Amino acid sequence: MPHVYRCRQCRATSPPSTRKDAEASRREHRVIEHGGLAPDGEEIVRVPGSTPDPDHRYVSTAAVVGGLALLAIASAIARSLGR
Ligand SMILES: [Zn+2]
Repeated sequence: MPHVYRCRQCRATSPPSTRKDAEASRREHRVIEHGGLAPDGEEIVRVPGSTPDPDHRYVSTAAVVGGLALLAIASAIARSLGR
């Protein structure tokens, strides 16, 4: 899902990119334009109408894998208690 970094102080917006790239643009902008300080009113926003972030899909995949691991552990415990 594309994100943009926006600095209201400079009335500037980065080109649409990943959230990570937008965060990199923010870091770079803070250093170059504001001496490393965070300008008031800056923000990282999702470009309206864009599709969901693939990063979020990765997180939910990790949750599924974690859930399966928990089930495997619970199953092993149940089996050892059943003896
Ligand atoms: Zn700025």
